[in-house]
Amino acid sequence: MHNGLAVYPGTFDPITLGHLNVIKRAAKIFDKVIVLVSINSSKRPAFTIEERVSQVRKVCERFSNVEVDFSDKLVAEYCRDKGAKILIRGLRALSDFEHECQMANINRKMNPDLDTFFLVADSKYTYLSSTAVKEMARYGADLSEYVPREIIQEIVEKIGNGGKSYAK
Ligand code: ADP
Repeated sequence: MHNGLAVYPGTFDPITLGHLNVIKRAAKIFDKVIVLVSINSSKRPAFTIEERVSQVRKVCERFSNVEVDFSDKLVAEYCRDKGAKILIRGLRALSDFEHECQMANINRKMNPDLDTFFLVADSKYTYLSSTAVKEMARYGADLSEYVPREIIQEIVEKIGNGGKSYAK
């Protein structure tokens, strides 16, 4: 059976090892995965759309069936345009559940061909979020356990205090 095309949307501000774990697992299940960096987020990202796309591209180069794209359309519309019938989301804890269920239903209502496929976060990454990464970067913490190696320097330069801790 042919598992087709799946879209994994997110803000990726910045991409973390938790996101990467979801991408790696999805790439094994589906023929092709598009990681979609969202422009239209109610969040105010620390990194510009260009920076986020470039970081995600760097990190996803290793996968032959993963493409990176960005869009300011509604995800349900983007999937319709691409002919994608599967949306991927990661679930970390119960706190993600309510919002994710609501989004899955709204998306299916807007595009009845679209179903959301949830991957449960690896236990190593349950507590990992982009917000936590930015907070740690601000205080000069070691980010190597939380974000892909290729983008650590960029995060430190943008958010960290030149890589130095604020603690004196
Ligand atoms: P959004 O603003 O769309 O929630 P995020 O970049 O915060 O964008 O998250 C994108 C997706 O990745 C969401 O489904 C989120 O639950 C999931 N995700 C975030 N962090 C992790 C993690 N540590 N492990 C697994 N999935 C995660």
